[in-house]
Amino acid sequence: MLHIKCPHCGMRSQNEFAYGGDASVKRPELNKEISDLEWDNFVYLRKSLRGKHLELWQHISGCRQWFKVQRDTATHEIFKTLKANEDI
Ligand SMILES: [Zn+2]
Repeated sequence: MLHIKCPHCGMRSQNEFAYGGDASVKRPELNKEISDLEWDNFVYLRKSLRGKHLELWQHISGCRQWFKVQRDTATHEIFKTLKANEDI
């Protein structure tokens, strides 16, 4: 079982968190004209990377805040957790 350090609450069991997906995906610029294919790619297309990856998680059974986790998807080692508005 993983233990994840919430940047707001501290170290907690994985059971308290929900995975939220890839944190590196950037939403298209507001009011910018984009094609259906670009929108489709933004909504559905995700890389399935092996190795160090930046993810979104929510502390669903705690403070309910979203935050970022830098984790190795192969070993599950967690390198860093950040508040949602922080960058590595
Ligand atoms: Zn928390």
